[in-house]
Amino acid sequence: MQHLLRHIPSVHDVLEQKTIQHLLESQGRNHIKALILQGIEIFRHKVFSSELDTFHYQSKDQVMARIVAYVLDIQQQTEKKGLRRIINGTGVLLHTNMGRAPLGKIALDEMVEVAGGYSNLEYNLEEGKRGSRYDYVETLLTDLTGAESAMVVNNNAAAVFIALNTLASNQEVIISRSEQVEIGGSFRIPDIINRSGARMVEVGTTNKTYIHDYEKAITEETAVLLKVHKSNYRIEGFTADVDGHAIGALAHAKELIAMEDLGSGCLVDLRQYGLPYEPTVTECVKQGMDVITFSGDKLLGGPQGGIIVGKKKWIDQIRKNPLTRMVRIDKLSLIALEQVLQCYRNETINEHLPIMKMLCRDMQQLEEEANKLMKRLKDNLHDHIQISIIQEENSVGGGALPEAKKESIALAISSPYIGAVALQKALRKYTIPIIVRIKDEHLELSMRTLFNQDHDVIVQGLCDIINKIDKT
Ligand SMILES: *Cc1c(COP(=O)(O)O)cnc(C)c1O
Repeated sequence: MQHLLRHIPSVHDVLEQKTIQHLLESQGRNHIKALILQGIEIFRHKVFSSELDTFHYQSKDQVMARIVAYVLDIQQQTEKKGLRRIINGTGVLLHTNMGRAPLGKIALDEMVEVAGGYSNLEYNLEEGKRGSRYDYVETLLTDLTGAESAMVVNNNAAAVFIALNTLASNQEVIISRSEQVEIGGSFRIPDIINRSGARMVEVGTTNKTYIHDYEKAITEETAVLLKVHKSNYRIEGFTADVDGHAIGALAHAKELIAMEDLGSGCLVDLRQYGLPYEPTVTECVKQGMDVITFSGDKLLGGPQGGIIVGKKKWIDQIRKNPLTRMVRIDKLSLIALEQVLQCYRNETINEHLPIMKMLCRDMQQLEEEANKLMKRLKDNLHDHIQISIIQEENSVGGGALPEAKKESIALAISSPYIGAVALQKALRKYTIPIIVRIKDEHLELSMRTLFNQDHDVIVQGLCDIINKIDKT
């Protein structure tokens, strides 16, 4: 043991090694030094716990080589930890854990062009003085939804919060017991209402709420009647709900504000994509909702963002709330959102928005793509892989349309040399991670959420993984 410990090099000596010098060309010296210390520590630990075969470490060079290998290992692992591209083979279109809506080229190009230099973010080019970053996006939104006014913030959670904080602070907000939604970890409607400074008044029951439940609950203190989209669940059976019309009418008769958190929110009729009917934002405006909030990166197919549309009187008040600055949208998202909304105006969403493009792909198209990918895999891997084409159903995800399913095509993949769980894990850890589900002992690679450029990676990834297995 003493002998081994004496062979441990100094940090300085490790730094002099050729491969480490190579790393230094692209990485900071202090960072690499820290990795070397970790590498030396691992080696020392293994010596003390007698995990190393001393026979292999007779010379200083051998110890050095081992430590350098540890350093390279750590470096590779840490480098891969950040945000990066993955391949979504799950078929879930708006996967909340996978960045929701991907952005199309039209938005990305504009982001590069505008954000790569200076921009007129807050500069009025007509008048040569300070201007508002929101003018154009607001015009697009009012044109598209028929609302009087519009504004955008960081995300829909912020939109709901800032609207309630402005319109109902220290007052009461009436909400049906069937609409107290939780979306992902920490967004719960009752918590948001409380944090906004408003008091929540629950009416009705889990399955049935009537307009007279709202009516009876109205007091001097009431400010807002709130309707929330049941984004990620559905109540079936013996149910009754109050629609936007009735809530709008009641609110106006009593001089209150009718507000709706639409969740995903969509600007077009989803039935054209074979999805169930969902009221569009325009329809909610027509129903008489005064303030409507929805997300930028759910079914709208844009960047993260929260959109608020409605009556000018209320939107102006929200805009003046000092907290609005804290939840403002950043310029990168704003650039993308403008492009996406322009596609809606130009009626080009099916060409330019990836989510819509994916929704438009029909079974024949998916099957052709599946056949091509299957052929490439079989040509490369022969009997090391077993593939068949199967039918499946995709869900939309992203807390939108929980019960909607879209018929789709997938490749069922297995290999005689590696189990499904191990193969799934190896794909997940691949240079460009490939995420797939397991069903009945095989991997299920959905075609619907794949981009064209993903096919090369999938072929290469499966070849790399399966060829590396010792098949003797
Ligand atoms: C998704 C969702 C939100 C949160 O929207 P983010 O854009 O993720 O902040 C709020 N309310 C409802 C009903 C939702 O579905």
